Amino acid sequence: MAKKRIGIVGAGVNGTSIAAACAARGHEVMLFDSGLAFAETSRKSSRMLHGGIRYLEQGHFGLVREALLERDEWQQLAPDATRVERFFFPIYGDSPRGRLVLYSGATLYQWLAGRFSVGKSCLHSVAEVTKAFPGLRSTGLRGAVSYCDVVMNDEDLAQTLVEEAKHRGVSLHEHTPISRIDTTGFLDINGTLQKFDRVINAAGPWASSLLERSGISSAFELEHVRGSHLILRVDLKHALVFQTAADQRIVFAIPIGQGRTLFGTTEHAHDLAEPIVCSEQEIDYLLAIYNQYMTHQIDRSDIESSYSGVRPIVRRRSESLSNISAASRDSEIEIIDQLINVFGGKWTSARRLGSKVASLTD
Ligand SMILES: Cc1cc2nc3c(=O)[nH]c(=O)nc-3n(C[C@H](O)[C@H](O)[C@H](O)COP(=O)(O)OP(=O)(O)OC[C@H]3O[C@@H](n4cnc5c(N)ncnc54)[C@H](O)[C@@H]3O)c2cc1C
Repeated sequence: MAKKRIGIVGAGVNGTSIAAACAARGHEVMLFDSGLAFAETSRKSSRMLHGGIRYLEQGHFGLVREALLERDEWQQLAPDATRVERFFFPIYGDSPRGRLVLYSGATLYQWLAGRFSVGKSCLHSVAEVTKAFPGLRSTGLRGAVSYCDVVMNDEDLAQTLVEEAKHRGVSLHEHTPISRIDTTGFLDINGTLQKFDRVINAAGPWASSLLERSGISSAFELEHVRGSHLILRVDLKHALVFQTAADQRIVFAIPIGQGRTLFGTTEHAHDLAEPIVCSEQEIDYLLAIYNQYMTHQIDRSDIESSYSGVRPIVRRRSESLSNISAASRDSEIEIIDQLINVFGGKWTSARRLGSKVASLTD
């Protein structure tokens, strides 16, 4: 296989995974980011390495199964930066999904993981769930369903991936925005054109604006959906999943140590020209959900910090997307001459995506 010179735009989890996989194939790889590596979407996630239990509702069984196998690969790669967590769905009289639906879903989730399952899905009585969560509202509580999934320390995992890429010979150029790309292999770096055998656009939510700015038309376009999280000064023994009756969403409360809980997320259409921050309205929305289900009421003084990220939801230009919440978070790869565009994806799927893209560069 001839050694190629590859230029990659974007040092998030996708770009870094692609870079490491290309370098492992013997290529010379330069990875560019306009800021710091892993400072954008890849640092703003819900920190789960998961199959995505909620995608079962939309029948994305193949996608869920594949992601569950990928979850196992992360555990093998970085046992110290990953941990198994039990997630409890408390069930109330007015919950959108009842015991049977949730238990079937949780059992299917465990079953789809096969031998890579990280724990049994269970049904719990009211007594069991109130013992696990003494602060949970008991009025109308019918019990709970729990399942196991993997939570990551994203900062440590990012560090591992950057070190792996560098160790394989990738040269990382932070604070180096790429103003234009082209389909013959040129990157415009600080006003200087550099030629590569392959150029990979892994700019995450900015992938389509980079193409537009460069005058390249793509078969895909991105919708941008902001998701915000709060870090609450709240101590939980296990993770909770709240079902919101009003908008039929699910919101996670995940213990992250030192008496803190990660709480989110929201889903709002986002204009990339606007700052990616958690709005007052999102804070109100999340606090209201927490206070609806927990007896100890919290307010803004219980919020340690907040952060927001933007999901790029990919679709073919010819398709319309009527329900952003129901859209699968799958990725698309597009090849236009020497340019490879990567759209969408998940943290969980990034390594396999990296290998897939790298195999297209030979
Ligand atoms: C709220 C939220 C929660 C999520 N939760 C989960 C989860 O729990 N589990 C999961 O598996 N996935 C989750 N995801 C999805 C996951 O976070 C993303 O799929 C992943 O981080 C995308 O990585 P990326 O490399 O494509 O994008 P990014 O991390 O955004 O990386 C793109 C990089 O490109 C750089 N860039 C952009 N334009 C240029 C340019 N012109 N020149 C140079 N550099 C440029 C940016 O600075 C950025 O660093 C979540 C996403 C969101 C938004």
